[in-house]
Amino acid sequence: MNKRAFLKLSSAVMASRFVSPLFAWMPTEKLTNWSGNLEYSSQQLTNATSLEQVQDFVRKHENFKVLGTRHCFNNIADSKNELLSLRQMDQVVAIDSQARTVTVEAGISYGKLAPYLDSKGFALHNLASLPHISIAGACSTATHGSGEKNGNLSSAVSALEFVNAAGEVVKLSRDKDGETFHGAVVGLGALGVITKVTLDIQPTYTMKQYVYENLPLAQFKDHFDAIEASAYSISLFTDWQNKRFSEVWIKSRTEPGNEFPAPKDFYGATPATKNLHPIAELSAENCTEQMGVPGPWYERLPHFRMGFTPSAGKELQTEYFVPRRHAVDAILAVERLRDQVTPHLMISEIRTIAADNFWMSPCRHQPSVAIHFTWKQDWPAVQALLPIIERELAPFHVRPHWGKLFTISPDRLKASYEKLPEFFQLAQKFDPHGKFRNDFLNTNVFGG
Ligand SMILES: Cc1cc2nc3c(=O)[nH]c(=O)nc-3n(C[C@H](O)[C@H](O)[C@H](O)COP(=O)(O)OP(=O)(O)OC[C@H]3O[C@@H](n4cnc5c(N)ncnc54)[C@H](O)[C@@H]3O)c2cc1C
Repeated sequence: MNKRAFLKLSSAVMASRFVSPLFAWMPTEKLTNWSGNLEYSSQQLTNATSLEQVQDFVRKHENFKVLGTRHCFNNIADSKNELLSLRQMDQVVAIDSQARTVTVEAGISYGKLAPYLDSKGFALHNLASLPHISIAGACSTATHGSGEKNGNLSSAVSALEFVNAAGEVVKLSRDKDGETFHGAVVGLGALGVITKVTLDIQPTYTMKQYVYENLPLAQFKDHFDAIEASAYSISLFTDWQNKRFSEVWIKSRTEPGNEFPAPKDFYGATPATKNLHPIAELSAENCTEQMGVPGPWYERLPHFRMGFTPSAGKELQTEYFVPRRHAVDAILAVERLRDQVTPHLMISEIRTIAADNFWMSPCRHQPSVAIHFTWKQDWPAVQALLPIIERELAPFHVRPHWGKLFTISPDRLKASYEKLPEFFQLAQKFDPHGKFRNDFLNTNVFGG
């Protein structure tokens, strides 16, 4: 969807606040995901503004899905029946400075929360490439940023409140609920309607972002660990051509003794002389400040600025996780496919993620590397290419991003999640009749 259509949609939804608290979407244009590659199968969208309205909606409907900010590229959020939005439930509930946590309503985006937290002297440990996404939607799919010591965004969740299929309020916390909590945080939207999330916070910090150009593949191969350890967050961008990474984005916390020294030569790469977009042809105006200019954490951790179009807009995305120990071999395997991949690609990005404990997280108990593809919006071509990439990555125990496009078979996917039987039982407990199921979940997670 282009920016104009998105704004039109947002203002229609916002206007509903003054019309009726529980507003049913009346389609004047088709409801799609952010990039416009998916038209939702139902156009029945209801906005809830309170916990009671969520409970009432849950009790009255047999099957529906919750929409976050609609940034997933596949049909994980789709429903043939009804859609519920909590976008108007977007307030900060409380900051607990002693416990170092913030509790928010589930519809809030990182872009809204982050400046507020900063104004109170606090910060999050990490952000994704864009701040526009909802916290509940991002944590439900194990959304991540970069940095070998940084767990994905779900790893900051310390408590959850959700409404189960019976309309009852369930509260789970890291301290009290052990493995059940680990099963619920990356819940893929299958356990209930998340109404509140509590996140770990820390004292606010400033960062500097540096971009280097043209890091040779040979240097990457020989120095991968040193490159990844060189700063708080590293992203490597490539179109897979010319045996090089076109850009390296380095995000450094400005802490004495711990700062990135910004050398003139970074493993053969040279400092950029102006702000860049990861897709070289696009305007860097949409990107966060670079060139080592210090700024708040929330204006350096994401690549893209709130209020601007992130990435390219009309695009598709795919991302594969492999255990960190296979990083170099897996990346070289994709590089060998360069002449098939590049014609359909806008850009690829390589990031590292620390291990976590969540049953359905691709990074459960294993430090991981994520190999991301921003594709041109040509699904037939991409659909033909994905099995080829997946075959090359199969020896490395590959898992796909839950919110992006993949063709890995349901059987292989299920086999790669050892906690899937327990997740199935957890879903049965909170949703015995499949109220929160859809085709994506039935096919990829619960089927068979
Ligand atoms: C331009 C762009 C850049 C991206 N960058 C990154 C990145 O850097 N790292 C990364 O890992 N991913 C990235 N993504 C993917 C994105 O973070 C995920 O798709 C994320 O899930 C989007 O959140 P959302 O709120 O839009 O979710 P939606 O697509 O709206 O929903 C996702 C899932 O969450 C469920 N859900 C949402 N809200 C609730 C709720 N309140 N209760 C229960 N279930 C709920 C939905 O039912 C669905 O199952 C990017 C996507 C785009 C478009």
